[in-house]
Amino acid sequence: MVSEKMKALGVKKSVIREIFEYAKKRKAEIGADKVFDYSIGNPSVPAPAIVNETLKELIENTEPTALHGYTSAQGDLGVRTAIADYIKSTYKTEADPNLIYMTVGAAASLTISFNALITPNSDEEIIAFAPFFPEYRVFVEKAGAKLTVVSSPAPDFQVDLPAFEKALNEKTRAVIVNSPNNPTGVVLSESTVIAMCEILKKAEKKYGHPIYLVSDEPYRELVYGDVKVPYLTNYYDDTIVCYSFSKSLSLPGERIGYIFVSPKVQDAGDVYAAILGAGRALGFVCAPALFQYLIPNCLGKTADISIYDTNRTLLYEALTSYGYTCAKPDGAFYLYVKAFEDDAYAFYERAKKYELLLVPGDDFGCGGYVRIAYCVTTEQIKNSLPAFKKLAEDYKAGK
Ligand code: PLP
Repeated sequence: MVSEKMKALGVKKSVIREIFEYAKKRKAEIGADKVFDYSIGNPSVPAPAIVNETLKELIENTEPTALHGYTSAQGDLGVRTAIADYIKSTYKTEADPNLIYMTVGAAASLTISFNALITPNSDEEIIAFAPFFPEYRVFVEKAGAKLTVVSSPAPDFQVDLPAFEKALNEKTRAVIVNSPNNPTGVVLSESTVIAMCEILKKAEKKYGHPIYLVSDEPYRELVYGDVKVPYLTNYYDDTIVCYSFSKSLSLPGERIGYIFVSPKVQDAGDVYAAILGAGRALGFVCAPALFQYLIPNCLGKTADISIYDTNRTLLYEALTSYGYTCAKPDGAFYLYVKAFEDDAYAFYERAKKYELLLVPGDDFGCGGYVRIAYCVTTEQIKNSLPAFKKLAEDYKAGK
């Protein structure tokens, strides 16, 4: 006997993973250069040099049992202090190392936070803005809450403020924000953030309990031009930041990130204690030591994101010239493109005939679109343009 719920999650992979696996199979069949795999958000740019330099130095100069041993459950104090100092100086906000918890990436940051905030079987709700990262549903439901979805309207995908206000109720425990966003690449403007936080403050007063803003931030540093990503603790006190180095440092397989509870959270001590408890209950204690020790040297550093910027411009300009519509992304490495028919799965199948592997948007809570992860080589983008063009022409010709 096993948990049917867990079995179902294990048997049916996420749509992203399914297409990623198909891409591997197809590349083996016809050659990697003939498959235009836009399925997964795996950084295509190497980690910055400081990563390997620091790792080498750590390996050469640290006593091995210290380097590879357990740290405190919540992470090494020196590492947490470096992160708190970085947050304070970069975002001009209060931070405390004793309110930081080292995790194995944003996925763990989110699951720990949801489990810390939710009382199972009490009908509590967590709001997400669609389109959203599909794993939110898995994480929220496993924690015992209901995921309430508020759609963000195309074409700019900012928050639908009246719909958001309507969705908040006495059972709302938290709201997830992801900016820059996966799958749209959209960055929430400061005016949206201010308006959203005003609504939240009013709701907190009305319902008489905290409603936490959980800021999922794996793409914070991946922004183009002079776009600024507002730091949410400066706009709303009850904020918990779920950060990951997966994308900024191109280290997704190493699994390193953190949770930062703002000292301004009204019951910060309790929230942090519950995070310690959830980390313990989920077995997410003591994030990988070597990668914790790497972090102080790498704060604020990124992989060379100019390559993503080149890809973004190339793809956006080509696709819009062929008749596709999408928001021009200010951040992350995704384009969210309107399919030429309502059924994004049918569109995905048509694209597949040209070896274009795009992800149907239904699991992101916003059908009729496909996601293109452009964290690939610029050569792949260039080589795939004729296929995108032919696909658009097929639809125009009514084929
Ligand atoms: N949140 C969003 C929006 C993501 O896109 C991802 C990964 O792609 C994650 C969380 C999980 O990140 P990590 O690999 O750091 O666990």
